[in-house]
Amino acid sequence: MRTRFPPSPTGFLHLGGLRTALFAWLLARKTKGTFTLRIEDTDKTREVAGAAKNIVRTLVWAGLSPDEGVMLDAAGQVTERGEYGPYHQSKRLDVYKKYTDQLLASRHAYHCFCTSERLDQMRKAQEARKQAPMYDRTCLELSEEEVQKRLASGEKHVIRMKVPREETICVTDEIYGPLVFKGHTIDDQVLMKSDGFPTYHLAHVVDDHLMKTDMVNRGEEWLSSLPKHLLLFRAFGWEPPRYAHVPLLLNKDRTKLSKRQNDVAVEDYIRKGYLPEALINFLALLGWNPGTTQELFSLQELIDAFSLDRVHKSGAVLDLEKLDWLQGQWMRKIPVQEFAARIKPLVAEKFPAASTDSKFSERATLIQERITFFPEAPDMLSYFYETPKVSLDLIANSKQKISKEDVPKILSLIQEALSRVSDAAWSLREVTTALESLIATSGMKKGQILWPLRAALTGREYSPGAYEVASLLSKTEVLDRIKKWIV
Ligand code: GLU
Repeated sequence: MRTRFPPSPTGFLHLGGLRTALFAWLLARKTKGTFTLRIEDTDKTREVAGAAKNIVRTLVWAGLSPDEGVMLDAAGQVTERGEYGPYHQSKRLDVYKKYTDQLLASRHAYHCFCTSERLDQMRKAQEARKQAPMYDRTCLELSEEEVQKRLASGEKHVIRMKVPREETICVTDEIYGPLVFKGHTIDDQVLMKSDGFPTYHLAHVVDDHLMKTDMVNRGEEWLSSLPKHLLLFRAFGWEPPRYAHVPLLLNKDRTKLSKRQNDVAVEDYIRKGYLPEALINFLALLGWNPGTTQELFSLQELIDAFSLDRVHKSGAVLDLEKLDWLQGQWMRKIPVQEFAARIKPLVAEKFPAASTDSKFSERATLIQERITFFPEAPDMLSYFYETPKVSLDLIANSKQKISKEDVPKILSLIQEALSRVSDAAWSLREVTTALESLIATSGMKKGQILWPLRAALTGREYSPGAYEVASLLSKTEVLDRIKKWIV
């Protein structure tokens, strides 16, 4: 299947755009087809410098590299490759002109000289009559001579499609199912603007035909324009591709996803430290349901499991708690050495000793089970590199039935037990054995020993377990941190 993603370079890639691209990419991969990236830069007034590059980079970050069209070269610069180019619409104006001329010749399109003032007046009058705004076809009445004369005099004009108003257009959308549109409700859409640039409606039809697109995946906001597009395919005598309109992403209150309530740019999520695996997994599950209880999907697993018939018609609410959960899950899946390598520079920036720390990987492993974002690592590992601030209130713990008065006694028992482990034998196994036998002989509960030890070593309410932390600090350091509480 040849699928495509054709963003307009008007800003950052949004979550909804990335999800649409993901669906198109998955369909191409699933069918061993081609995923094409085209840049729809025909609205020069809305174009943002650097946006195209940013969008391509974001797709590559997410793992959705294009096979054809606009892509990054080895040096990370935007280039294009493929036999149906150019893939920037602004470089295809002659193509659109050729096809508009064809529509004019076959009388599927006509010149319109109406000024924007006249169109405004018309629209206001229609609104006053409670009619849907629609071009009143004044220019369709012009004689051929009149049109030629006005064109020859250089009068500003657009080209509109002539919609067969008596027709009914039936189509089956891959997600929305069978749809029926009445011709009389469809406006004579502008195809070519007065500046010689095509509108989206014309340009994507021409391009999707010439670029041999089999399946159009695009946002639901285009659904109401679908009949215009199908009429254009017919006017050209071309077979239309299949269409799958992807439902909207919604805020919690079920309004359309907006900046006011959420971060909408993928860029924001990258900056916050989300893993591409987590964001992709999250977006896939927004509106698509695998039909099983599986929640963690790699791109490869998505390729295998994805199908459009399991995409819901209704909008999907952005559940950021789910995203964070997925982020945590994907953090745990990173191979240990890779995880350690990723966080080492961050930790070393704050604690230079980390850069030559022979125990770094083991210490990193301890936090991999708990971390959500890489930048949390320096703080989560701080007690390995500096003496933590510890309060008596933390060590004493009513839930564990440890009073402040108990603290010196408990910690001196621990001190005694750990002192018996030799320096050379200091390891998780030996530390565990020593503490377990203390628990067994002291008649105290596990928590009454392990809580105060862990608190004294880390100064934190939450951290990896006492055995692990103690074994990854030196024996001297452990005994020093305990000693302070024994008076
Ligand atoms: N340029 C259009 C947009 O950004 C593309 C829609 C489509 O996928 O055809 O919304």
